[in-house]
Amino acid sequence: MPSIYADAKYQDVSEEVKQKLFDEVKADMRWETTLYGCYECGICVASCPSARFYEFSPRVYAQVMAREDIHTFYELLNDSVWDCSQCFSCTRCPRQNNPGGIITIMREVAVNNGMQSAKTALQAYSRIIYKVMSTGTQVAPDMLQPDFFPDWGPDVVKVSENLENWRRAIPPETMHTTELAWDVSEETQLELYLIWKLSGNLDQIEILDEGIFMILTEVMEELLEEHGYDLDEIDVVV
Ligand code: SF4
Ligand code: SF4
Repeated sequence: MPSIYADAKYQDVSEEVKQKLFDEVKADMRWETTLYGCYECGICVASCPSARFYEFSPRVYAQVMAREDIHTFYELLNDSVWDCSQCFSCTRCPRQNNPGGIITIMREVAVNNGMQSAKTALQAYSRIIYKVMSTGTQVAPDMLQPDFFPDWGPDVVKVSENLENWRRAIPPETMHTTELAWDVSEETQLELYLIWKLSGNLDQIEILDEGIFMILTEVMEELLEEHGYDLDEIDVVV
């Protein structure tokens, strides 16, 4: 089927490549519960925050996947698939479709295939990925720096200047840190790291950013050894 866009991009990419990626999405075990047909009613678009700010439409995803339009699918996979904020407001669809879920699967396919669109979209998050995976907590307060993310706006300067004081004002003592969101025991950190390792998340990071992967594995596997974990045994489990 030709693309729904008359001026479709990526015409130089072979049909085989596009079909293979399309088939990978449909082979995902979650696929069966994401799409049941589409009325083109636009309710998903009306509820979608990303549609308000970008050239983006969850309805297009439902339509393209239902029509098996592999050319537009490939275009979406290279461009707007990264504009979704994964809020799942679109699940109010009267056909019980889940356009956000379709996008989740498409993103994973893009990551697993090391597509440049995935690398570019996630490049800015490498510091966050490292922080989360090496500490077991989420984004840390000391990441509130003016030069980290320009879109955080001018107020972040004021916050970053008084970070220690702001943190000490929070009642739970485990949150009086600036390098971490809260204190996490090393045991918990290691358990989380092992979950990411055994569930294949680290493999995905290796595909996307080998530098972060190497630093992360070096730091964490040293810690695992210090705590008496046998890495060979863990590899056998994988
Ligand atoms: S809400 Fe559902 S049926 Fe309506 S356009 Fe969106 S995906 Fe299609
Ligand atoms: S999950 Fe994505 S497509 Fe669905 S409403 Fe949220 S931003 Fe829009």
